[in-house]
Amino acid sequence: MIRIGILAVQGAFIEHEKILNELGAETVELRKKDDLAERFDALVLPGGESTVQGKLLDELDMMKELRERIISGMPVMGTCAGIILLAENISNDKNKYFGTLPIEVTRNAFGRQIDSFYTVGEYKGIGTVPMTFIRAPKISGVYSDTEILAELNGEPVAVRYKNQLAMTFHPELSDNYEIHRSFIDMISV
Ligand code: GLN
Repeated sequence: MIRIGILAVQGAFIEHEKILNELGAETVELRKKDDLAERFDALVLPGGESTVQGKLLDELDMMKELRERIISGMPVMGTCAGIILLAENISNDKNKYFGTLPIEVTRNAFGRQIDSFYTVGEYKGIGTVPMTFIRAPKISGVYSDTEILAELNGEPVAVRYKNQLAMTFHPELSDNYEIHRSFIDMISV
């Protein structure tokens, strides 16, 4: 059975767990370095606060090992804060976290007036999906062979680069599981 590690130091990880379990995958919460010794075939980086998650990843000494796994091809899905952790560049944050995904993001890019909003959009290979944005970043640059999977008003909101799938919205906050299903399809064990 596929086992998916879910970064569980902060943020909205429970929702990912529930969906992945319903789709038949086992999940492992990654809260501390010892948890990385468990078997897991893929990784989920949930929404939350990227600065807090990044700081905890460093303090808990989990950053290096997880980064090495991503670089060596482990499938990873990052949502919202998760895409910030993956991004090669963050235009308005002096920190860089995993830095493995060839995109630039801009944090909190929608402004206070529209902190959160819900819409629907077209997602490549799936069709119309619900999209919930919560203090979301924008993808402000797309480099290398990074493929755009979904756009909103002409701007990318979901991308894939090799084993890395990432989006600025929260697919775990909807009852449409197709994005999670597409992630499971990226995992071969
Ligand atoms: N604003 C958060 C950040 O910069 C991301 C918000 C989210 O994950 N919902 O990390």
